[in-house]
Amino acid sequence: MGTVGDAAGKPLDRIERKSLLYRSGLGFDCINHVQGCSHGCRYPCYAFLMARHHGRARDYEAWCRPRIVGNALGLLDRELARKRVLPDCVHLCLTTDPFMVGWPEVEEMSLAIIERLNRSGIECSVLTKGRLPAGLADRRRFPSDNTYGISLVSLDERFRREWEPGAAPYAERIAALRRLHEGGRRTLVHIEPYPTPAIFEQDLTELLDQVKFVDHVYFSGWNYNPRVSRVLGTERFYRRQSSTVRGFCARHGIDCALG
Ligand code: SF4
Repeated sequence: MGTVGDAAGKPLDRIERKSLLYRSGLGFDCINHVQGCSHGCRYPCYAFLMARHHGRARDYEAWCRPRIVGNALGLLDRELARKRVLPDCVHLCLTTDPFMVGWPEVEEMSLAIIERLNRSGIECSVLTKGRLPAGLADRRRFPSDNTYGISLVSLDERFRREWEPGAAPYAERIAALRRLHEGGRRTLVHIEPYPTPAIFEQDLTELLDQVKFVDHVYFSGWNYNPRVSRVLGTERFYRRQSSTVRGFCARHGIDCALG
């Protein structure tokens, strides 16, 4: 595997697509307006495995060099105009990151897509390992009750450098999320895939404490890495962590979902 972030600063490659808005197998509507992701997560990233399997990314290096869907906004306009019933909510993104570090063009397009969806009365749920832009708090530009979320499974930068090498530092992710919370927006923290001690020793309560201002917490284990499933006691470990999350959310009046 090569170095993540090598491509940042170079011009962004463009691709054209025939469609954009779709219903995912998970049962919600999504937009992925970029192919690939420079965050280069090594859990591994399920979207990368699928892209490689279907021939959309030759290897890890190719995956880490994002290609933006140049006709995304035009496609979205056309698809929304054709729909008899508009979706209530659209998720950005399932197979890439809408606020990918080092690619301002991706950020610009993500903001334009959220704005366009909100203009049609469609809420957005946004999830990133980048920095959520402060402008997302602007109710005039983004009037819908969007949910802004970050993925966060550790506070330790050693973990990030090993497993999420191209993503934003944890403190910056949290600060950007807090800014939106303080701006009156609905916020979420997505804690998945949470590492077992066999992967990384840490204290979940310290992490939860850093994000106790959020409205929603989602917690789930690390289910698709042999280093996790081979270790005895994994199930018991996740049962204990889930109960910690449940108790924490109940104490702080936070909505809680467990994977
Ligand atoms: S941020 Fe998400 S899409 Fe990007 S590499 Fe990591 S897991 Fe994959």
